[in-house]
Amino acid sequence: MNSKSLPLIYVALDFETAEEANQLIAQLDAKSVGLKVGKELFTAAGPEAVKHWVKQGFSVFLDLKFHDIPNTVAKAVVQAARLGVDVVNVHASGGRNMMRTAKAALEKEAHQPLLIAVTVLTSMSDEDLAEIGIQRNAQEQVLALAELTQASGLDGVVCSAQEAKMLKSKLGDAFKLMTPGIRPAGSQQDDQKRVMTPEQAQQAGVDYMVIGRPITKASDPAKAASEIVASLAS
Ligand code: C5P
Repeated sequence: MNSKSLPLIYVALDFETAEEANQLIAQLDAKSVGLKVGKELFTAAGPEAVKHWVKQGFSVFLDLKFHDIPNTVAKAVVQAARLGVDVVNVHASGGRNMMRTAKAALEKEAHQPLLIAVTVLTSMSDEDLAEIGIQRNAQEQVLALAELTQASGLDGVVCSAQEAKMLKSKLGDAFKLMTPGIRPAGSQQDDQKRVMTPEQAQQAGVDYMVIGRPITKASDPAKAASEIVASLAS
């Protein structure tokens, strides 16, 4: 298991280049926030940039949502662990065997990141699911895949804050929830449809929050981040 305690907030580094990301990171405090690196930035900046941010002391969530045959995903999450990241994720729809194989591979590593799963992409409607052969509605599918994730031995799921209470009550407190779609009171909603404030998300049982634009587009990102962290301190 992870021995160090992870930050509550992961700042979404939705940037095109490492240089842009570094400009923002220079204003952040590694003791209070982590960094979420997704497909765009990872594809542009690569593993060396991730290693550099880890070396600077940041907790990193490598959000690459792996989905492939079990052997391939297991080898990919092992490489993520070796970069020193603290959280890595896969698609739960890859199935039990894929998730168990990935978790078992990580358990042999010296540094073991949390392994969490994405259930249903929030961009998918019930009609989109039907079109790929899933008869359950999105909410039922989220719960079914979260249960499968837990049964496969993973540490938690990425979910919407709206689902947090339901998932904590069905799956228990130890099962970690990582949640985007967070907006401090008074900030812009951007393209997020259903949002919660950091305090509301914390009350709903969310363990870790992904927050992007309210910090990255703020005139003073350091202040925006520290105000959010302070609002969750009590
Ligand atoms: O800027 P904002 O706070 O909306 O950024 C949220 C981050 O979380 C982005 O990196 C976005 O891709 C990611 N995300 C999301 N909703 C999901 C899954 C991931 O906003 N359902």
